[in-house]
Parts: sequence; C-alpha cells; structure tokens
Amino acid sequence: MGLVVQKYGGSSVADAEGIKRVAKRIVDAKKNGHQVVVVVSAMGDTTDELTDLAEQVSPIPAGRELDMLLTSGERISMALLAMAIKSLGHEAQSFTGSQAGVITDSVHNKARIIDVTPGRIRTALDEGNIAIVAGFQGVSQDKKDITTLGRGGSDTTAVALAAALDAEVCEIYTDVDGVFTADPRVVPKARKIDWISIEDMLELAASGSKVLLHRCVEYARRYNIPIHVRSSFSGLRGTWVSNEPLGDQQVEHAIISGVAHDVSEAKITVVGVPDKPGEAAAIFRTIANAEINIDMVVQNVSAASTGLTDISFTLPKTEGRKAIDALERAKGTIGFDSLRYDDQIGKISLVGAGMKTNPGVTAGFFEALSEANVNIELISTSEIRISVVTRADDVNEAVRAVHTAFGLDTESDEAVVYGGTGR
Ligand code: ASP
Ligand code: MG
Repeated sequence: MGLVVQKYGGSSVADAEGIKRVAKRIVDAKKNGHQVVVVVSAMGDTTDELTDLAEQVSPIPAGRELDMLLTSGERISMALLAMAIKSLGHEAQSFTGSQAGVITDSVHNKARIIDVTPGRIRTALDEGNIAIVAGFQGVSQDKKDITTLGRGGSDTTAVALAAALDAEVCEIYTDVDGVFTADPRVVPKARKIDWISIEDMLELAASGSKVLLHRCVEYARRYNIPIHVRSSFSGLRGTWVSNEPLGDQQVEHAIISGVAHDVSEAKITVVGVPDKPGEAAAIFRTIANAEINIDMVVQNVSAASTGLTDISFTLPKTEGRKAIDALERAKGTIGFDSLRYDDQIGKISLVGAGMKTNPGVTAGFFEALSEANVNIELISTSEIRISVVTRADDVNEAVRAVHTAFGLDTESDEAVVYGGTGR
C-alpha cells in the first residue's frame, strides 16, 4: 500500500458536517493501509467572500495583502479537518503551503510552483500522521512572501505534492462523480467518463471544462501522476485521468471525449489594420507586454479597395480592460482605425483524439450547430479539438445539440451534482 494524495474542494468541506464526513473518508484510506496526504480548499465560498471583502476596503487590493488574506481560508479548513481526524482517534497535523515546502515564483495571485520540498510532510507521515496541507498557496523563493496559485489552485497543489512524494495516485474529490462528457449542470444527459487520456483532458480543461484546472493536468502529464476525479459525497468510482488506462480499467478509446464550453472570454476586434507585414506582430506584442494570454485569433481578408483588414482575438474577460487600454496607447504606432469589444460571446469545443482519424467530425459539429440555429462567429481547431465562438446566449443550447449529435447522451439522467457552484 503506497502513498495517496487526496484533495477535497470547498463544497466537500462547506460546513462542520462536511468536514466530519471527509474526515471519516480520510481515516478509511489510512485504515486501508495507505499513507495519506490531504490537500484541502477553503470552506464553501470562503475565497469569494474574502475577495469581496477585500474589494470593499480597496478597489484594487494589493497583491501581497490579498494573498495573505485569501490563504487564511485554507488555514481554517486544514486546522478543522486535522481536529476532526484527531477526534476520530487518528493522528493528524496540518501545514500551510509554506510549511509543506511549496515554493513558488513571486507573482502574487497567480504564482507558479517552482519546487516542492516536502521534508516536514515526510517526517509527519513517518511518525504515523495524516498530513493535511492548505491548498492553493506557497511561499516565494526570493522574497519569502506568501503567494497564491490562482483560483482553483488547490488541484495543482495536490498534483505537485503527489509528484514530489512519488504518490501512487492523486485523488481529486469534488461535487460531481467525475469528469463528464459535458458540464452536467448544462447537459443533464452528460455521461461519466471512466477513463480519459491526459491529452484529451488537457484540451477539455483548456476549453473551459472546470472539473480540473489546465495547470494541474499539465503537471500530472509532466510527472506522470494518475489522477482519480471522484465525488466525496457518493464515494463511487470516478474518472481516471492518465497517459494509458491502468491495470483493471476496461476502457475503449472513444472518438469524442466530450464537449466543453466557456463563457468567460471576450472578443476584441481591431478594425482597419493596414494589410502589411509586421502589423499582427505589433498588435500581439502589445498584448503580450501587458502580460495577457490570448486564445483564438482570426484575420479577415483585406478589402482590395482600402488595403485594410480586421483582426479579432479572444481573451479572458477579466483582462479586457487592460488589453483595450494597452492597444489604445499603441494606436499611433500600430496604426488602426478603432477597437470593438464584445463580452457577450461563448465558446463551444468538441474534443477527442479520435477525430484525427475519423472523417466527418467537423462536418457533424457544424451540422449540429446549424440544426440548433446557432450562428458561428469564429472557428479554431487543433489536431484533437474544434472550437467555435457564438453568442453567449446560444451556448447552452449549442452544447446540448452537439452532445446529442455525437451520441454522447446517456439513457438515464445519471449526472448528479451534489453541491457547490461548479467553480
Ligand atoms: N479556495 C481557492 C478557490 O476557491 C482554491 C481552490 O479552491 O482550489 O479558488
Ligand atoms: Mg473553492
């Protein structure tokens, strides 16, 4: 019996009852002979509440102080969980990210893990403890300041610890039974996936599927850590995410893994750009210098009479203001007519490695959208994904239509959402 890392999300530890329920599950794993490391999120919506509170005292809270504030959420849940385990007669110790050896760069609010030195966790385990670690936080290597990894970062903490401790598996406990073929909150007939390749999971996460964060899956791929996504409410077997199916996993490689959607992006159109070399470079260098990640890019053919073209791209809504300001400042040097900003868009993506070798997937996708009367605004593809941008209002309808068209619907309404907000 090896070491397991278990991560519990905020909805699993939303109140005292939840914490006691989770404590029992952890103790069961320990009784089964495992060494257990637990990564825990803040209780319920604590992180949102703390963020709101910060905004009430300062419109743009200082990054360092915001991190100090937000990390307190996980400290509450880790201490309570350790107490609950002790009261069940088992030894447990809680650790902040810093104490657990999670070392990051110094970018507040979205730090990256650069090293994990879990010496204290090892010692605690060797002494027979269950180790509880506060998720989503670390300490910066240079300044020794407390940092956070960005919203949802506890998953990344869990996988990073699993890698550093050479764990057998990283179990991510959440409020649904696993990874589904679509968001069960939108598609009641979504089906639970038994096994999915890391490759497909990465694309789903990049396309807006919220069940696992992209960074966390990336980490799992790099260190070859199998992830088991499952519910802390039902205890059913969930979804295994790994390079290859493991041991007893009877699976077939599906052509299509799932349909993801995302309404968190906005679209900027740069209107009237001279159609000559260097223009796209100047636009996207401006965006990059503002530290903004973009998603899709589309350039139209230029009108012969004017020699001008339009370039559209998508980016997180939260970066919209910053991008517009940066482009406005560079307007003189880049040379364009105007900017258009649209935050009423949604993105729908179909993901599956099988589309590489199965003709007709793209056609089927567009047909399903057309039958649902959904207009397509932008298209982008990778080898194993097709994405379109539509009106935000059309997204739910479009996801259901595509899900049905590709035969992904279950007979039974098996998707159960046990709690939480889906974040
Ligand atoms: N509590 C943090 C959040 O809500 C981190 C996490 O839950 O993973 O984003
Ligand atoms: Mg949370």
